[in-house]
Amino acid sequence: MNIFYYDVAVSLPLRQCFTYSSDIKIKKGTRVLVSFGKRKLVGVVVKNSKKPNSLKNTGALKKIISILDDYPLFDKSIFDSILWASDYYHHPIGEVFNNFIPTDLRKINNKKIEKVEEVDNYSVNEDNKQFELTKDQEKAVKKLSKFEGFLPSLLYGVTGSGKTEVYLRLAEKCIKSNKSVLILVPEINLTPQLLSRFENRFNGEIGIYHSKQTAAKRLKTWLKAKFGAIKIIVGTRSSALIPLSNIGLIIIDEEHDQSFRQSEGFKFSARDLSIKRAQMAEIPIILGSATPSLQTLRLVKESKFQRVDILSRVDGNKPPKLIVLDINNSPLNGGIALETIDVIQSTIERNEQVLVFINRRGFAPLYQCGGCGWVAGCKSCDTNLVFHQSKNRLICHRCESAYSVNVNCPACNAKDFHMHGVGTERVEEVLKKSFAGTPVIRVDHDSTKKIGAMEAIVNKIHSSDAAILVGTQMIAKGHDFPKVTLSIILNADNGLISPESNALEKISQLLIQVSGRAGRNNNLAKVIIQTRYPDDINLNKIKTGDYMNFASQCLSNNRKMNLPPYTPLCLLRCSSPTQKSNIDFLNKAVHTLTNRPGINVIGPLPSLVSKAKGSYRHQVYIHASKKTYLNKVLKFLTEEFEKWPESKKVRWSFDLDPIDLG
Ligand SMILES: [Zn+2]
Ligand SMILES: [Zn+2]
Repeated sequence: MNIFYYDVAVSLPLRQCFTYSSDIKIKKGTRVLVSFGKRKLVGVVVKNSKKPNSLKNTGALKKIISILDDYPLFDKSIFDSILWASDYYHHPIGEVFNNFIPTDLRKINNKKIEKVEEVDNYSVNEDNKQFELTKDQEKAVKKLSKFEGFLPSLLYGVTGSGKTEVYLRLAEKCIKSNKSVLILVPEINLTPQLLSRFENRFNGEIGIYHSKQTAAKRLKTWLKAKFGAIKIIVGTRSSALIPLSNIGLIIIDEEHDQSFRQSEGFKFSARDLSIKRAQMAEIPIILGSATPSLQTLRLVKESKFQRVDILSRVDGNKPPKLIVLDINNSPLNGGIALETIDVIQSTIERNEQVLVFINRRGFAPLYQCGGCGWVAGCKSCDTNLVFHQSKNRLICHRCESAYSVNVNCPACNAKDFHMHGVGTERVEEVLKKSFAGTPVIRVDHDSTKKIGAMEAIVNKIHSSDAAILVGTQMIAKGHDFPKVTLSIILNADNGLISPESNALEKISQLLIQVSGRAGRNNNLAKVIIQTRYPDDINLNKIKTGDYMNFASQCLSNNRKMNLPPYTPLCLLRCSSPTQKSNIDFLNKAVHTLTNRPGINVIGPLPSLVSKAKGSYRHQVYIHASKKTYLNKVLKFLTEEFEKWPESKKVRWSFDLDPIDLG
């Protein structure tokens, strides 16, 4: 009897596979049941190993208990992308697999990979296709559909230029040649328009896949996609590696969006992973945005990506004017300047809509005792509690713990509390008082939590005439509000003066995206940016509305200053119940790297949120001259950490190409 040996990845935070034997031939990527210590676990066959690691152990080598499916989980291109991701991000292989396996298939249960019948009823619904393409759109479609094989393209389309129609036309081509399409979007409930346009354009089920669905629903969609019963998937970052039979195209909409980055657990970029997948599958990938990331622009500059532009809006209008309003000498009411109130007044008198953007939810971000200065803070995080009037609670935005509102100060017993700062609820209240009779509609995490809430809000906005929308960055993503002719940005200053190296990229994207929501049907639309830094050099460049010019200046600046995307950066993050464990571990890591050429280490430093959910957080910045070199260093560190007693007392992880530097 032949005996085969297999390296199996188990879903534990371990950076290695384990060898098991079986007398059956098993395909790579197949789920198997194995015993591990005293437990039984679901594992994935990663590779054949001809000889067991050590012959001495052969006798003790465990047998695979059973093979769980008739089919492997993934095809070769996805399987290889997972191996690449585990290696590139230096993350335990079993956990990387788990990120892309539906929950129901990770556990020991009776769920299996069962074949779903393929459908052949996918077709283009020609009746619902009444769009004439603009010249720019037509050129873009032509240029983007020429390619076969791996080629990443940036589709730079100004807001309102009709990128979605270009996606639809390219998807049509795929469906007609019996290929499938994957569309990644930042957040599902922020893209009802894109979704409904795909549903209208095609006969056949459009699969939706994201982490807020039930496990059963996700498994169903996953299986249908795998076996060709669904040929179009619209999903969030968790669908980056969803199997799709005969995949022909990947589209990443709003590629600059930070939601594509997973920053807890397995820290990865769904954008970068999708590019790798497209490369492995030898298919085109399109990254669409009105405000492309510096990373993508660098790759365009180096001719690794092609660039396709749509510079005119579908409605032929010019983009709205950005106006800087100096608020240094203006009294503010709920963060809003008097001049701003006047402009809102005249806008709603014309029966048009106003969008007020403030990047903070709740009523007031600081709840303080007037007697002694005590500030309400979370018990398990190093964050101030935000007062939420709608719930009459103090809430930690880090861990979502809710506290009842203090009547007496816990420090001095005084009953004199003050609220400082402004959040969406407070802006809403001020506007409701100033504009009685005009609907004030709040769009934030709290008002859109319930299923269907976002759709109801969007419907209300569309069916109202004069109205004021108050929202966080949620309102800046994806939606079109044709009746909005005035946008107001209340607190851009934090972004302008932030020390983070990618702050300017983020704030310029935000300002352009917010301004893009407005004025789709009106040439007189404008955006008011309230600021205490009216002469800020960057603000004045962003004000021109020429994002690409500003971004290209940022890019050459970052190149000179040796900042990402030119210098590879990794954060070594660690957390533990005591500060000492963190510092001991990180100091040892820093010491290990000192005097290495080509490596620059900063830290240990407390993270921006230095305590969260009861654990202290610290980090070390590791810069290297080249990515391949950084990779080597991280590999070396991983091996070292496995040997150290200090690393057993902390949870550590690498955050490669981080977007959140704090
Ligand atoms: Zn007090
Ligand atoms: Zn907390």
